[in-house]
Amino acid sequence: MSKKVAIQSLTREKLREWVLSIGEKKYHADQIFSWVYKQDTLSFDGMSNLSVKLRERLKEVAYFSELKIDGLFKSSDGTTKIRFELEDGYKIESVLIPFEDRLTLCISSQVGCAVNCAFCYTAKMGFIRNLTTDEIVNQVLYSARVETERRISNIVFMGMGEPLHNLNSVVDACDIFLSDFGLNLSKRKISVSTSGILDKLAEMKERTGVRIAFSLNGTTDEQRTKLMPINKKWGIADIIKTFKSLPLEFNEKITIEYVMMDGVNDSLEDAERLSKLLKDIPVKINLIPFNPHPGTQFLPTPEEQIDKFHTYLYKKGFDVLYRRSRGQDVGAACGQLVVPELIKQK
Ligand code: SAH
Ligand code: SF4
Repeated sequence: MSKKVAIQSLTREKLREWVLSIGEKKYHADQIFSWVYKQDTLSFDGMSNLSVKLRERLKEVAYFSELKIDGLFKSSDGTTKIRFELEDGYKIESVLIPFEDRLTLCISSQVGCAVNCAFCYTAKMGFIRNLTTDEIVNQVLYSARVETERRISNIVFMGMGEPLHNLNSVVDACDIFLSDFGLNLSKRKISVSTSGILDKLAEMKERTGVRIAFSLNGTTDEQRTKLMPINKKWGIADIIKTFKSLPLEFNEKITIEYVMMDGVNDSLEDAERLSKLLKDIPVKINLIPFNPHPGTQFLPTPEEQIDKFHTYLYKKGFDVLYRRSRGQDVGAACGQLVVPELIKQK
C-alpha cells in the first residue's frame, strides 16, 4: 500500500485533485480544508458534515501529521518560544511575538541551515534537512493552540533555516496561509526572509506575492563575505540589481535586515555606503542589535552607536527602524534559535 497523505501537506488545489484521484467528489476537499484551517479540527471523526463511510475511506489513505510540543519558554517581555519535536525526532523552534494589536509568529523552514553565517546560532547546527509543507503549516496550527486568546495576525519566515533553500514547501505553505478557505491572511502579513539566494527570490515573489525581507548585514563585498559566505556567489552588486528587477506591488517595500555588530559593520561609513546602495530602492531598514549566543566572537553594537547610525539614515530620508530584540532571555531572539543537542562538535 502506498504511504498515507498528510492532509496539511496539500494546498486547497492539491487537496481537490487528491480527493478526485481517490474517486470522491471535489467539494469534499473544501469541506476538509475548512475544518482544518477554520475550525482547527485535525481528525476526520470531527468532520461532522462528512458521511461516516467517507470518513472511514479517508482514514485509510490520509492522516493528520502532528507536531509535539517539546518545550515552552516564556520571556519576561511576552514573547514565547515553542520547541517542537518532528515525527522523526528532530526539533525545530517557532516564536510567538505579541506587539500592540499584532501577534506575529516566527516560523522555521529547515532543521539547521546550510548558509553558515558567522553571526548566527542556527548555523552551528549545519544543514540537517528541509521541513515538509505540513511541518511548516503545523507550526502555525499548533502555535495557535498555545496562544488561544488572540489570533496569529502575521507570519514571518525568520526562524531556523533558509526558506529559499526549501522553496516548494515554503510556497505551498504560503498558499495555505493565504487561501480564503485556509488561514485567509493577506500577502502583506507574511514575510519571507532570505540571506540572498538570488536565483530563487523573484520566483518566490511571483509564486506567492508575499513580502520580502532581505538580510543584508554588510555594505562591502569583503565585509559581507566574511559574515555571510553566500556573498561569494551573489555579491552586493547582484543584490542591488535583483532588487531593481523584482515585481513589487504599488507602495510595497523590501525590508532590509541589518544585524549590528560592534566594530564590524556599524560605522558611519557603513551607514553612508548603505544609504548610497539603497537610495533608489523602495526599502524599510530594520536595524537589529546582534543577539549574543554561546561561543560567538561578536558583540552587539552599543545603543548610542545604533542611534547615530539610525539618525544618519533617517536624515537621508529612509524609513528606518531600530528593532529592539524580543525574547533574548529565553534564546528566542533573531539568530538565537538552536537545538543544543544538534550542534555540531568542532
Ligand atoms: N535564513 C534567513 C531567515 C532566518 S534568519 C535569513 O538569514 O534571512 C532571520 C534573521 O536573523 C536574519 O535577518 C539574520 O540576519 C538574523 N540573525 C541571525 N543571527 C543573528 C544574531 N545573532 N543576532 C541578531 N540577528 C541575527
Ligand atoms: Fe541560515 Fe539565516 Fe542563520 Fe544565515 S542567518 S545561517 S541564512 S538561518
